[in-house]
Amino acid sequence: MPEHMPIYIGDNAVEEFIKFCQKSNYQKYLLVADENTYRVLGKRVHEAMKKEGWDVIYIILHPEGLHADSVTLVRVLAVYDGQPRMFVAVGSGTITDTTRFTSHRSQNPFISLPTAASVDAYTSVNSAMTIGELKGSIYCQAPIAIFTDIPIIVESPKWLTASGFGDLTSKFTSSADWKNTHIIWGSKYDPEIYEKALGAAKQAAAVAEGIVTHDPKSMAAMMQGQFDSGFSMADFGNSAPASGGEHHIAHVWEMMFHWAGREGLYHGNAVGVATIIEAGWYERLRKLSKKDAEQLLACAQVPSRAEQEKTIRAELPEIAEVLIASNPIYMQLSDPQVLERVKKDILDNWDEIQAIAAKVPPPDQFRAWLKSLGGPTTTAELELSPQQAKTAIDHGHYLRERFSINNIRKLFGW
Ligand SMILES: [Zn+2]
Repeated sequence: MPEHMPIYIGDNAVEEFIKFCQKSNYQKYLLVADENTYRVLGKRVHEAMKKEGWDVIYIILHPEGLHADSVTLVRVLAVYDGQPRMFVAVGSGTITDTTRFTSHRSQNPFISLPTAASVDAYTSVNSAMTIGELKGSIYCQAPIAIFTDIPIIVESPKWLTASGFGDLTSKFTSSADWKNTHIIWGSKYDPEIYEKALGAAKQAAAVAEGIVTHDPKSMAAMMQGQFDSGFSMADFGNSAPASGGEHHIAHVWEMMFHWAGREGLYHGNAVGVATIIEAGWYERLRKLSKKDAEQLLACAQVPSRAEQEKTIRAELPEIAEVLIASNPIYMQLSDPQVLERVKKDILDNWDEIQAIAAKVPPPDQFRAWLKSLGGPTTTAELELSPQQAKTAIDHGHYLRERFSINNIRKLFGW
């Protein structure tokens, strides 16, 4: 397992951050925050740095309509002066991903000071960015250190926690999809990283009650879970362990909002609802005997490549060409030989697939957790039209090289 960066979780994050910087050789910094995160934590960090006499340039972004996208990247790069600087991200997903990208591409390291338990991306090497019309995961770098101020996390808005909880418990389905991809499609896999990703979801589930009241100990455990989830991606080298079919469905919804210029769909909320949908398919799969599966697979019908291309172009014109060019698994299944091989692999490994499915809680459990946190549990609550909801569910499996339960259920004719 690779070595990880130092992580502080406690009551004195700013002091610990300053001590860490004193020991490093950096005298020059670029602080990135938005108006909200600057108010709650960034100002304190900034003043402590100024007190040290360090050269700090900074950008405080307007939070309304703020996304990790081309516009925000350029705004940060516009204040950057091209000198070697330690980048300092004070914020959650958008701020951290923006800083991760801009620091990496300008060949500078960065330090993260999280302000909410809203995402699992803090320790990740990848940035979730929207470049052009496509939202995706872009290789960048992990922070060299993380300083988590628990009083700030406890005070953070509860809807951010609900969103983070949705993202974190999605590791139940993402880790299952990843392991199934290994079994059915032969893709790369690591059992230790699988346990880490699954463990992050279990950790969140174990403290779910304390998270509802923002109890400091539970929030610290949730942050640790978020960091572990990020490590699972960093250690593996891509997002596969922590981003499965549920993320692919959610990404399509997020892109739909982006295409329409709409605001207000939060990553973890979208992922939470998509996780309920995937958990429903896993629950259905658990009820199948091998014989049932065999019968369903015998009738499996995969549309021809040309038919699939036509549907993708009609349903998701904005990203159709990129998806088609990526030669998605489901398109490859239009080859009868490939399909036969996959059917055989599913049946030959049926007990193991069942054991994987057994680790995914039932959809009602996810619903109960998210409801207790005040998070959305339906696509209607995400303010998606029934058609938008369906398009993403029907086409999410084209997004990444994963044999998710969304692929499996299609073969079952569900
Ligand atoms: Zn996520």
